[in-house]
Amino acid sequence: MAGILQGLSYFIRTFGCQMNENDSERIAGLLEAEGASKADLIERSDLVIVNTCAVRAKAEEKLYSFLGRLAKQTRGRDTLVGVVGCVAQVQKAALWEKKRLVHFILGPGHYDLIPEIVRDKRRERILVTSQSRLWREWPAGRVLHSNPWSAFITIMEGCDNFCSYCVVPFARGREKFRPGRMILDEIRELARRGVREVQLLGQNVNSYRDPETGGTFPGLLEAVAALDGIEWIRFLTSHPRTFATDLALTMARNRKVCRQLHLPVQSGSDAVLERMQRGYGRREYLDKVRILRDLMPEISLSADIIVGFPGETEAEFEDTLRLLEEVRFANIFSFRYSPRPFAAAAREPDGVPLDVKRQRLVAVQSLQKAVQIDTHRSFLGRTLTVLCQGRSKKGAGSFAGRSEGNQVVNFSSEAEPEGPFVRVRVTSCGPYSLRGERSGPDPAGPIST
Ligand code: SF4
Repeated sequence: MAGILQGLSYFIRTFGCQMNENDSERIAGLLEAEGASKADLIERSDLVIVNTCAVRAKAEEKLYSFLGRLAKQTRGRDTLVGVVGCVAQVQKAALWEKKRLVHFILGPGHYDLIPEIVRDKRRERILVTSQSRLWREWPAGRVLHSNPWSAFITIMEGCDNFCSYCVVPFARGREKFRPGRMILDEIRELARRGVREVQLLGQNVNSYRDPETGGTFPGLLEAVAALDGIEWIRFLTSHPRTFATDLALTMARNRKVCRQLHLPVQSGSDAVLERMQRGYGRREYLDKVRILRDLMPEISLSADIIVGFPGETEAEFEDTLRLLEEVRFANIFSFRYSPRPFAAAAREPDGVPLDVKRQRLVAVQSLQKAVQIDTHRSFLGRTLTVLCQGRSKKGAGSFAGRSEGNQVVNFSSEAEPEGPFVRVRVTSCGPYSLRGERSGPDPAGPIST
């Protein structure tokens, strides 16, 4: 049966995190289920959807420059343009007033309206940004996962933490949890189709509570680990304040849960963490790292770091450098502080000059680069299990994947890998990736690295 969007071509541009990527996969799934098809160029599309991120000022700036280019690319064409996601939620008035080329603006949680808006309201501008505390499920099976072997699965959305620098509770609303049976049904179906790795997503997965049974996140993790076919499980994001020992024990007990964790510390200074309203101190964070490493010595940890938070002194910044030296993260995502709308810290005087923020960011990144080179050298000569992500841009016989520790692994292989997992012997490395060659027969499933 033909769908309501038969013949329509669409283009989606995604800014931001894995959650936004997953939302875009869902939007693509909804559109294609109604007969639309993906266009390779904006100039060839009838519908352009911009999925936006409001977490950093830079992502928001990128949206506005994208819309500026889009106005030129669509001039003289009858292209329908929608802006969805976090900027749509928090900047709706400005977008509505200033960007006449935008036909519809939808906050998170309203994307299932897109097919009907596109079908019925081509001439009318639409704005829907109401927020709810209830989970709104997507139509079953309508997610277009971009990787055949790995899939993002959203398990909760929103945040109740209100860290003083963050816009997310205003953009994504309060916490909403997806029923566990729907999560497990989706994963079962994906496993049946060949997916071997799932990444459970939410702003703070630790606070997950099944709205039907009251089940907790460790319980959900155990249930996912019990599903046939799923070999690797990751999850993102864990707030350090609510990362409890029972979750670390659940990880350690289940070998399918990857020995990898993103635990965003943000700062190494107690005073800054307090001003950020993070709810933990440096010692508490380091204690959690120690517990994780005692239970899983090979675990690979990553974090977010913000430099130049309002009032950050040189001594407070030094505390962050010392923490990076002490923990030796496998990877970090580091940013200069920028005030965000609605966030409490945006009402404080910034106090740290831009050039100081820039210098601090360079210092953090240089230190981390040295740590990563050193860590990567320890992999030389080892053979790792790698989940293949496909061909790399480096030419024939070059492929890319990720190790269990989430390191990027580029490797050479005479033949295209047939299954998801390959074994790769690491022969060289840089600060941001490992390189190697395919080695021996492919494993049926992951082997401990
Ligand atoms: S935990 Fe803090 S930083 Fe993370 S989404 Fe919530 S408010 Fe933002």
